[in-house]
Amino acid sequence: MSIFSPGRYVASVDRIDLDDLWAQGKRAILLDRDNTLVPRDRATAPAEVASWLDRAREKGFSLYMVSNNWHRDQVERSASELGLGSICFALKPLPFALARALRHLDVPRDAAVMVGDQLYTDVWAGNFAGIDSILVKPQTTVDLWYTQIFRIFERRALKGVPCEE
Ligand SMILES: [Mg+2]
Repeated sequence: MSIFSPGRYVASVDRIDLDDLWAQGKRAILLDRDNTLVPRDRATAPAEVASWLDRAREKGFSLYMVSNNWHRDQVERSASELGLGSICFALKPLPFALARALRHLDVPRDAAVMVGDQLYTDVWAGNFAGIDSILVKPQTTVDLWYTQIFRIFERRALKGVPCEE
C-alpha cells in the first residue's frame, strides 16, 4: 500500500468492525467530522453512527474528533453530543493535529487509526503521521467547493480500489 493510499476503504464509519480493529491492536480511533460522522447537510450525526461510537467506547476504544472545520462552535457541539474530545481547524493533511490527539489520549501511533471520508486530508494526514487510515465513503454528496475539486482526483485515485460494504 502506498503512502498516498488508504489502508482500508469501507462504505461508512458504522460498518467498521470494532472487534476486528481491537484484534489488530488498535485502541484509539481518530475521527473526521464532516461527511464521516455528521453529514454536511445536517447538524447532527445519524443514530447508527452515535450507537457505533457508543459500542466503540464500551469496548474500550479512546475516541477523538479531528476536524478541518474552522467553525469551532459546530465542531465542539457535535463532539459534545457524541461524547468526543475534539480539535477543530486541524489543517489535515498536516499530521500535527493527529499527533496532538494521540498525545492527549496517551496512545502510541501504531495503536491508532484515522477514519475519514477524504483521501487528500484524512488519509494523507494519517499516513504522514504514521497512523493507519480507513477511508469511508462521504455521507452526502454535499461538499465545500474546493472539496468538490479534490473529489475529481480522489475518484480517479480510487478507481478499482475495492470498498468493503
Ligand atoms: Mg470529511
